[in-house]
Formats: sequence, structure tokens, C-alpha cells
Amino acid sequence: MKNKGRMIVVSAPSGCGKGTILAEILKSDKFYYSISATTRAPREGEKDGVNYHFITKEEFERQIENGGMLEYAEYCGNYYGTPKKILEEKMNEGINVILEIEVQGAMKVRKLVPDAVFIFIVPPSISELERRLRKRGTETDDVIAKRVAEAAGEIKKAPDYDYIVVNGDLDDAVDDFKKIIRAEEMKSAYSKNIIDEVLENA
Ligand code: 5GP
Repeated sequence: MKNKGRMIVVSAPSGCGKGTILAEILKSDKFYYSISATTRAPREGEKDGVNYHFITKEEFERQIENGGMLEYAEYCGNYYGTPKKILEEKMNEGINVILEIEVQGAMKVRKLVPDAVFIFIVPPSISELERRLRKRGTETDDVIAKRVAEAAGEIKKAPDYDYIVVNGDLDDAVDDFKKIIRAEEMKSAYSKNIIDEVLENA
């Protein structure tokens, strides 16, 4: 019998390369990326049903009332939430589901799904984060300073997570991420099927 998939919660301040790491991980069909619902407007290039489910505040509140959200949080004046049903379906198929959410939501999931795996991605240093944000060239100095300050605050929450991945070199970070998942899969609590198989021919 196949093991159930795991829930993997990933948080990181912006500019940490979280998207690049996850894009590598999601090349495997063992993983499903949870598409959140949000009330914020799509950014240029974002597609409904791909990056997010872009819905109205009324629809979001209706989904909360119907118990459709595993968790939700208000962030910068908008709602963000994780639709629950699809995650259960995927995990029952043995697929690991990845939730890319901010810290408040992650801590709610910690209480609701105690066996989820919590990973926090950090830059090698705050000065490196600042350098990357500048290189991206999409923000003004003011915005960069704000994001750097915010990132420092968020990174202080990293000890509440199970694992910390430092994104210095991308290949190393992806490799570390995969090792965490592999180690989690090998925990005895999730290896009952292996023991059964081993003993089958005894
Ligand atoms: P952005 O607007 O930049 O796409 O996302 C803002 C923040 O919301 C990011 O930290 C992102 O990880 C977080 N976020 C995205 N989806 C969800 C969600 O479903 N729940 C929670 N709690 N946070 C989310």
C-alpha cells in the first residue's frame, strides 16, 4: 500500500529565492503545489487558477464560512487562504502537497496538522538579500529598505519551523530541500508499508 503524501509548509521572506527552489522541486510529480485563494488583484503575468485563485472578498468569506479553507490570514490588507479539499485528495494519492504561505498561516497549520513538515528558507545574510533585491531592479530604495526590515523580522520566526534551508547556492539549497523530504519519508512512522513488504516473504 502506498504511503499517504505529506504536507510541506514553506515560508521565506521575499527575495530569498523561494520560487526558484520550489520550481525545481515541483519538476517531480511526487509534489503538488497548493494554489491559494486571494482577494488581492493579479499582478502582471499572473493567471487565475495557476498562481492563485483570484476571488472577491465576499466569495472568500463564504468559503471561510463553509469550512473550505484549511487556514487563512490577512496580509497587507488582503485575504490569503489555503483551499482544503484538493490537499486531502492529493495526499490520499500519495502526493506531497506544498503550501507556500506566510508565518501566521504556517503557525495555524502547525496546530491543525501536527505532522506537517515546516521549512523556512533564509538568505545567507541580510546584506546578500539586499543585494539580490537591488539586482532585481524592480523596487525603489525605500521599498527595498522596507522589505529588508520586514525580512529581518520574519527571519526571527525561523526557529518555530522544523528545518532551515539557507539559499546561498541554488543547487545546494534544492539538494538540502530534497534531503529533508527524503529523511521525513524514512521516519518509521511513515514506513509501515516498507516493513510489511520486507516481512511478506519471511
Ligand atoms: P504575494 O502577495 O506576494 O503573492 O504573497 C504575500 C504573502 O502571502 C507571501 O508571504 C505568501 O507566502 C503568503 N501567502 C500566499 N498564499 C497564502 C495562503 O494561502 N495563506 C497564507 N497564510 N499566506 C499565503
